[in-house]
Amino acid sequence: FSAIGDPEEAEEDEFTPGIEPQPTWCPGCGDFAVNNALKKAMANLGKNPDEVLLCTGIGCSGKLNSYFESYGFHTIHGRSLPVARAAKLANPGVEVVAAGGDGDGYGIGGNHFMHTARENHDMTYIVFNNEIFGLTKGQTSPTSPKGHKSKTQPSGSAKDPVRPLSLSLASGASYVARTAAVNPNQAAEIIAEAVEHDGFAHVDFLTQCPTWNKDARQYVPYTDVQDSEDYDFDVTNRQEAGEMMYEVESKLYEGEVLTGRFYKDDRPSYGQEKRSTGEMPEEPLAERYYDEDAEWER
Ligand code: SF4
Repeated sequence: FSAIGDPEEAEEDEFTPGIEPQPTWCPGCGDFAVNNALKKAMANLGKNPDEVLLCTGIGCSGKLNSYFESYGFHTIHGRSLPVARAAKLANPGVEVVAAGGDGDGYGIGGNHFMHTARENHDMTYIVFNNEIFGLTKGQTSPTSPKGHKSKTQPSGSAKDPVRPLSLSLASGASYVARTAAVNPNQAAEIIAEAVEHDGFAHVDFLTQCPTWNKDARQYVPYTDVQDSEDYDFDVTNRQEAGEMMYEVESKLYEGEVLTGRFYKDDRPSYGQEKRSTGEMPEEPLAERYYDEDAEWER
């Protein structure tokens, strides 16, 4: 990966066809920051595009496949995780990243989110959390604040938003973090850690949608809890992490943005367990069924 679109580097890179598609996200959209952070993280880790699979859902976030040079699978709404876990089980050597919005991941694909975390599938899951459905023009999403007015909830949402970090921890994710578009260095570092983690690594990425969520905060100022003396907790202690997440999620809706790493557990991933017990063969399933003489039709 080259960090960001240097045309000269792109022409030398056999995986990059020279002309990089230009993102069509709206000016000021937080999605640019996810793209940049993911590219920077992969470049810093020394990953090649042919070592990475990016699975996306439906939404503005789903356009990431078009701007991120790697293998890609643009799935249907809320279904990036089942595709991602199957790909990782079939080919454990590929670095799998799944990405989607808060409506896609915490609403329509909420069931997949819970069970992929519970089974600790080895992948990075980045959720573009802008507290709204952006692509379909601003409907209330699972993370919209209580009272948020939209075309689908003109009198204001009567419901409390989901708490994605707490939900992730309770479901069984082994790495949970939150970062924000306004903090690009932390975002790249957290994504790199998530990619390196063996297990389900969930990154809740706060992204602003200036087009449809005009009243939303821009997530500034923010505090990195690892850099603050006000917060002292052990990220490997489940109870302390849970209490910290509850505080982080409560404060977000009171206007205080807390980001950082909140939980890390080194238990084996689903694939590691299945291979260690012999339920799955050691060699990648992808190779078992790969026939290099097969003729493929487009
Ligand atoms: Fe970004 Fe919102 Fe525009 Fe979608 S509608 S590209 S989320 S600013």
